[in-house]
Amino acid sequence: MSETNLQILLAARPQGLPRASDFETVERPVRPPDDGEVLVKNVYLSLDPAMRGWMDDRKSYLPPVRLGDVMRGLTIGVVEASRHAGFAAGDRVTGVLGWQRYATVAAEQLDKLPPQVPLRLAMGPLGMTGMTAYFGLLDVGRPKEGETVLVSGGGGAVGSVVGQIAKIHGCRAVGIAGTAEKCRWMTEDLGFDAAIDYKTADLGEALRSACPDGVDVYFDNVGGEILDAALARINRGARVVICGAISQYNATEGVRGPANYLALLVQRARMQGFIVFDYARRYAEAQKAIGGWIAEGRIQARDDVVDGLENAPAALLRLFDGRNVGKLLVRIAEE
Ligand code: NDP
Repeated sequence: MSETNLQILLAARPQGLPRASDFETVERPVRPPDDGEVLVKNVYLSLDPAMRGWMDDRKSYLPPVRLGDVMRGLTIGVVEASRHAGFAAGDRVTGVLGWQRYATVAAEQLDKLPPQVPLRLAMGPLGMTGMTAYFGLLDVGRPKEGETVLVSGGGGAVGSVVGQIAKIHGCRAVGIAGTAEKCRWMTEDLGFDAAIDYKTADLGEALRSACPDGVDVYFDNVGGEILDAALARINRGARVVICGAISQYNATEGVRGPANYLALLVQRARMQGFIVFDYARRYAEAQKAIGGWIAEGRIQARDDVVDGLENAPAALLRLFDGRNVGKLLVRIAEE
């Protein structure tokens, strides 16, 4: 095969926000598949806040990306060539195939996508984003009808789905986000009951008015001061779901824990983290439910697509300055 593979490698460990010099773009020949392997042409790359953590040399739920390795990332693509009986050219697949145009991988690293699923939905509500919202809210948060569900990062990929699932379960859904546009999207299009712009509002006051009966489930995507303000409003028996803490991912100094954690004691509440991969065996259940809600028009998704793999390092920053609305993707090749 004479085609060239464009790859983006991790070149340095970032200090604070990632910079262009933390990445290196290289061109290498595409490696044809050996027995048991599949060659995939990547179409979309998912950009995720967690990538920032994978760039650090720190113990976590996955090992750090090694310097000089292709940057880790979830992609969806199309099989170009296969030497495994389970895959054929033209199959649509997903896997952690990295920031590169082509990946030659063991077949076990791939999952097949059903032909009827639009690729962009497979990256959003029917992909890791939707799985995170579904299991984080329903399995960890366990909302009951009539309860108030507060979600930070509410205008983002995961948060926007969390609020919509909360509404489907008969809850009051309140979202926190950093722009007026995201707040308008949540309340006018997605059916949230209220939205708070954390960059302009007095958070304590805004939470009192948006959550007059307190907060039963707080789905936290951001950590920091917003987590503290939410803890101050939790009800007895509340569930605080720790999904992420994006406000801390680029911190260069030690991060302070939540000052209001004693609210958990006073309110006999619990705070629990989760990793979506632990639910992998139940993804089909969530995909069936979310697929049904999409078909009924009860879940809307939005994505934010940046063209060109070479733009991925700059596009990653959209997550940290809040420019993305909905699921951030890089289009590597035409569908
Ligand atoms: P989003 O689409 O929500 O994008 C990130 C958003 O975070 C930005 O758009 C921005 O929106 C907001 N943000 C950035 N910096 C700050 C800050 N300092 N304070 C408050 N908000 C900030 O990303 P995802 O939906 O992909 O991910 C959301 C969260 O879910 C992340 O924390 C991620 O790590 C976590 N996650 C966890 C998983 C798990 O298994 N536990 C799996 C997948 C994701 P704004 O304009 O509102 O500031």
